[in-house]
Amino acid sequence: MGKVYDVIIVGGGPAGLTAAVYARKRLMTTLVLTMDIGGQVLLTEHIDNYLGYLEKSGLGLAAVFERQAREYGAEFVISEVRMVEKEGSLFRVSSTAGDFLGRAVIVTGGRKPRRLCVPGEERFLGRGVNVSLKCDPSQASGKAVAIVGGGNTALQRAEMLSTAASRIYIVHRREEFRGDEMTLVRVRKIPNVEFLLNTVIMEFRGGDSLSSVLLKNLKTGEERELKVDMVFLDIGRDIKLEYVQHLVRTNSEGRIITDKYGRTSCEGIFAAGDVTDTPYAQVIIAAGQGAAAALTAYSYVKKKPGDICY
Ligand SMILES: Cc1cc2nc3c(=O)[nH]c(=O)nc-3n(C[C@H](O)[C@H](O)[C@H](O)COP(=O)(O)OP(=O)(O)OC[C@H]3O[C@@H](n4cnc5c(N)ncnc54)[C@H](O)[C@@H]3O)c2cc1C
Repeated sequence: MGKVYDVIIVGGGPAGLTAAVYARKRLMTTLVLTMDIGGQVLLTEHIDNYLGYLEKSGLGLAAVFERQAREYGAEFVISEVRMVEKEGSLFRVSSTAGDFLGRAVIVTGGRKPRRLCVPGEERFLGRGVNVSLKCDPSQASGKAVAIVGGGNTALQRAEMLSTAASRIYIVHRREEFRGDEMTLVRVRKIPNVEFLLNTVIMEFRGGDSLSSVLLKNLKTGEERELKVDMVFLDIGRDIKLEYVQHLVRTNSEGRIITDKYGRTSCEGIFAAGDVTDTPYAQVIIAAGQGAAAALTAYSYVKKKPGDICY
């Protein structure tokens, strides 16, 4: 048998990275399997409600999280987890970088971007159509960019890219925004941002890469082509748990049901952050849940189950 980690953490967002710090503080051998380091924080332009962090940059906070988790000695492997299976008293976690064994698993997979499911979307994915959480303004330099969505993600992305892009179109199927008012007020004042409300994208068009989208106004039924170089889909996130849902109980929204200790219905599997049935998707809450899950995992791995450590 290969190396057995005390704990394998799926996901490198606030929940996973905090869990990694807490697990290492308890000297558990800790492996973080994640597709990126920072999770949704990588996309957050302004973060002003994470206590103790005053710089307000999402990228900055993600970098600090990563530094701290690495400093404490967590191992990181950038990969996508495909399956978690019970193997005796251990768990086998299969990922795109291979299989790993752990005594406990903490699931912190957060959420994944939704798709529009219209013609051309798949074809231009990565060639103009973007669903990544990462947002680097230089990639939009001098370009016409459409951002689809009506929440904070879309608004903050518009704000972030407006400094580099030639023009930004916010394409939103409704008239009202879900994003917070303060951000909306700021975005409305940016001169190169145009709001296309009651509007949806019907098709993505282009040659080798995206060159335009077909828009439809839902009120008038009018269709028109809009020249754009890039489109970002910020239409929400789904929880994807194919790799573990056979082992843990989920609620009607597909979120993992946990107790206040981060325990799931499966002994040895813990969960934290947006992937759980918590009502609040916030960095500080995900981090707190990550800490709780790691402490409970420690109790599970090092002591007898049910013995909660403080
Ligand atoms: C634009 C935007 C603005 C926001 N603004 C704020 C704000 O101002 N304040 C605030 O408190 N919160 C804000 N949030 C919400 C906050 O970012 C989330 O609540 C928080 O990041 C959740 O942390 P998490 O660790 O649970 O999940 P995520 O941050 O979603 O991290 C999940 C991690 O799991 C990884 N992952 C997923 N599936 C797999 C898999 N199968 N294999 C390997 N790795 C996987 C992902 O790559 C990622 O690293 C914002 C979110 C967005 C999108």
